[in-house]
Amino acid sequence: MPPLPRALDDPKRLAALARSGLPDSGAEGVFDRVSRLAARLLGAPVALLSLVDERRQFFKSLVGLDGPAANARQTPLSHSFCQHVVTSGAPLVVVDAPHDALVCENPAVRDLGVKAYLGVPVRDPDGFVLGSFCVIDHHARAWTDDDIATLEDLASLVMTELALRRENTERQAAELRLRDQNIALAAACAAAESATRAKAEFLANMSHEIRTPLNTVVGMTDLLGASPLSASQREYAEAIRTGADTLLSLINDILDFSKIEAGGLELERLPVSLQASVESALDFVAAPAAAKRLELLALVEPGVPACILGDATRLRQILVNLLSNAVKFTASGEVCLRITLAPDDASRLRVSVSDTGIGIPPERIDRLFKSFSQVDASTTRHYGGTGLGLAICRRLVALMGGDIQVESAPGRGSTFFFDLPFVVATLPAETPVAVFTVLAGRRALLVDDNPTNLLVLTRQLARWGVDPTAVASGLEALEVAASGPAFDLAILDQHMPGMDGLTLALALRNKPATARLPIVFLASVGADRAPFTDIPHSRVINKPAKPALLYERICELFHLPAPLVDSSPVATPPAVQPRTDLRLLLAEDQPTNQRIATLLLARLGHSCIVVANGLEVFAALAVRSFDIIFLDVQMPEMNGLTCARQLCELYPPAEKPWIIAFTANAFVEDREECLAAGMDDYLSKPLTSKALAAALARAAVGLAARRSPSPLPPAS
Ligand code: ADP
Repeated sequence: MPPLPRALDDPKRLAALARSGLPDSGAEGVFDRVSRLAARLLGAPVALLSLVDERRQFFKSLVGLDGPAANARQTPLSHSFCQHVVTSGAPLVVVDAPHDALVCENPAVRDLGVKAYLGVPVRDPDGFVLGSFCVIDHHARAWTDDDIATLEDLASLVMTELALRRENTERQAAELRLRDQNIALAAACAAAESATRAKAEFLANMSHEIRTPLNTVVGMTDLLGASPLSASQREYAEAIRTGADTLLSLINDILDFSKIEAGGLELERLPVSLQASVESALDFVAAPAAAKRLELLALVEPGVPACILGDATRLRQILVNLLSNAVKFTASGEVCLRITLAPDDASRLRVSVSDTGIGIPPERIDRLFKSFSQVDASTTRHYGGTGLGLAICRRLVALMGGDIQVESAPGRGSTFFFDLPFVVATLPAETPVAVFTVLAGRRALLVDDNPTNLLVLTRQLARWGVDPTAVASGLEALEVAASGPAFDLAILDQHMPGMDGLTLALALRNKPATARLPIVFLASVGADRAPFTDIPHSRVINKPAKPALLYERICELFHLPAPLVDSSPVATPPAVQPRTDLRLLLAEDQPTNQRIATLLLARLGHSCIVVANGLEVFAALAVRSFDIIFLDVQMPEMNGLTCARQLCELYPPAEKPWIIAFTANAFVEDREECLAAGMDDYLSKPLTSKALAAALARAAVGLAARRSPSPLPPAS
């Protein structure tokens, strides 16, 4: 057998033919209809759609053949005229087959009476010729150009159908793939979610396990510090305490992070005082900033609401994190926390922390907010840290509806900032703004070499109606004091190059015009205050100056009543004298924790009865009554939560002891679970003397309110 023309056995063409699914499948109405149309339009008795492989031709549709051939679905290649259309890729026009050199030998001429033939190629969407669409006549016939064009138009209908089928098949395959991928994805998500849950649970358990011994370390070093020690022993004890504190903040970071990652962190929406949040965050870094002689500044710009709805704890956490980094990575200069309205959107707050520190190279900025990532590995050794702080900040800010960003240049400092949507709120105990008017109209001289600090003070004083004159050095201050109209007040920075605040104050005192000028000194945290006490008509406050405190000190100098200002981020109960006559019961199963708690309580002037579980609480209550019950949450026999619930059932609300949860679990919902079980307060381990004292103070207030009968409605 002579070799087949190339196109017939072209493997790519054969693959395309197989892919089309047309050969060896049954007749289809759509192709039969087109074939009938071809026969009718061209006035030919026979019309065929035939597909040709390397051995046979298949009839996908066939109209007009009589006899046994009418039912034939395929013939050997030798009977095929169409093979010539496939090999040439062009129409084949046969006018009189017995006299046509190409096909005169074809058995179909004799067997089927084929006299005239007109066939055009049928291509798949990729251009492979799969076969031919043709008409046949039993008489010799001169086909016209019109006949060829008509047949080609009809063949293009066939090809459109093929293209549509291809698209359909591909879409179905894609849908199937997508369905499979979705199933795989859902399975992967479920696995990841359960892994994340398991991780969060594991971390919560681990943190509980780690906190328990840490509780011992912190508690015992607290007690050790209060006992007589030599200087070196005290140093060792302090080092242990610092180490334990660091470990604790590390555990808190890891816990927070895994909590946020697991999507389990919900923010509170309570009134938050922005000024108080700023101040409490600054308090946290005031000492390390002072130790490095950094200017620590805060500016809450006019227009920013005093109070918004939000989560004070988490806002403070973000601010403390950014401020701590700024202080950590700045050797000299300033760190400034600023809250303004966002430059292009007054419905958002812009919070920024800028520093004049080492800065961050541009190519490292992308990595900054990734967990466990530090700008470079040597940073860890030099500055310490886990690389989790910014990752937590970014996630917390995102939960608040913002996006944290940074602008920085190596050696020129960094500014971290984010914009938050806000809803204005009022603090329950908010001081009316009108109270801050008693200083209005007074003239103040401000002296500070730091321009940002001057700006902060100027804005603050202007807000109170005070008329400020700001100068950057002692010499300038002496000049304006000597030449201009008299001042009512001076605010002097302690640390200034050239003439410091104290020297300037002495110089002012030597001039008759300013001999009795009231002075407020701005001192660094931890600075020796003794020299200032020699200056009459003066007060000292720590930098950064808290507006409320500054106002209070100025009022004192003018013998004016200062307004009462609440400077806690959220409303707190009024301070009360600590009571030492309270009857305390402690339920805690761990002997070391029992010992720490009793010793810490003893240092605060309290004694307590100790029991080891919830059941023993009721045994103790059978003998005598208690004002406050500390309940460890995890205890054998009866845990703290069950015990609290049963106590609530036992007592009418006014007689219920004050119940304080005492637990190593640090999550917010642990606290909520305790409160839901009827406890009144919550202390997380490790327990510190300060936290315990604060809880006792809250208990005293709470008990007083609970036990005093509520006022009767006025008689009508
Ligand atoms: P860490 O606990 O290591 O401080 P963070 O997530 O808070 O973790 O910070 C990650 C890294 O980002 C830091 O190690 C430091 O390299 C860089 N960084 C953060 N803040 C500053 C800043 N204000 N100035 C320069 N580098 C900073």
